[in-house]
Amino acid sequence: MIVRSTIDALAPLAISLRRAVGFDLGTRLYIPGTALRGALAQAYLEEGGRPDDPAFQQVFVSEKVRFLDHRLNGAEHWPASVMCCADHGDSHRLVDLLLLAGRNASLAAAQCPDCRAKLGRVQGFWQWAGDQGANPIAILRVETRRVAHSAIDPRTLATAREQFFSSGVICPGQQFAGSIRSESAAEAGLQEVLEKIRKRDGHIHLGRGRTRGQGLARFTASQGSGSSEEELKDRLQRMNKSMRCDGSIVFTVTLQSATLLYDEWLLARDLEAADLSPEFAGCQPAARFASTQVIAGWHAAAGLPKSEVTVLSPGSCYLFRLALDGREPEAELDRLARLLAEVENQGVGERLSEGFGEVIICSDAHTALWAAEGR
Ligand SMILES: [Zn+2]
Repeated sequence: MIVRSTIDALAPLAISLRRAVGFDLGTRLYIPGTALRGALAQAYLEEGGRPDDPAFQQVFVSEKVRFLDHRLNGAEHWPASVMCCADHGDSHRLVDLLLLAGRNASLAAAQCPDCRAKLGRVQGFWQWAGDQGANPIAILRVETRRVAHSAIDPRTLATAREQFFSSGVICPGQQFAGSIRSESAAEAGLQEVLEKIRKRDGHIHLGRGRTRGQGLARFTASQGSGSSEEELKDRLQRMNKSMRCDGSIVFTVTLQSATLLYDEWLLARDLEAADLSPEFAGCQPAARFASTQVIAGWHAAAGLPKSEVTVLSPGSCYLFRLALDGREPEAELDRLARLLAEVENQGVGERLSEGFGEVIICSDAHTALWAAEGR
């Protein structure tokens, strides 16, 4: 079962980057799947549910339900390969280094096509630009602000000296969208949990500062659908048209959430083709733009910090090229569409139930920029 879900911020949201320590804290600009899972579990318990209910066990403990990250308006992360003019931002044409790398062009000489300035990373999320502007896609900004408060001295009930805190928060009035995916064995439990949440008007609490009025959000769920082979084939065809390659088929993988892959020593490693499907074993990425980050978390049930892990950052992207070797292109596209739809639906790597390992194959961000470049 796939549930399409939305989270409306009714109050400022402060989602910790790591365990809250220090006087100045930041916020994530999206709702991690693990934060949503915690908020729904808490709401379920507040409605009289118990941790040993079969529904609670199925949904929150069995790892049969994947809670994916929820992003502003359901947008995608910018691929790490997309660069913008260092002087004029996205008012000048964007450059996708993955395309240059795929054509074996030199990346060292890459510069702004409009003014030859240096290039810088584009951060955050993208949206369609409409007819305006220099690019088919544009930056989608999450509205944030900073809030501050001082600690209260419990003896005097007055402001405590030298205890002033500030924090970045996501402004209310914005909607975050994503999905929850359940194996059939946990469907009944998920229905029951969603029914309990619906009864309280979808009210959940996310992130820090509940006692200061932060974190209130409305959760809604409706029926969703997974990626289909037809959709994947269409994306593959459009991408290969933009890339204009003969004798091979290209596809890209762009991570949409933190992705955790272990090597034989249980250390973090980079994505390989075999992680997508055993049928791709031996195939190397033609180009990759990946970065890592360290994430931590708080295990509410155990009351302990989760161990820190190194993950591939959202936005990391990979270009794969498969030689046709005389095979029929149409049949090969069908085979790839079938395999890659499965990859999108299942995710890649470890700890999938916490929202890790969400990928987009042949993202429209790449295809749109490649098509624009070819004009
Ligand atoms: Zn420029």
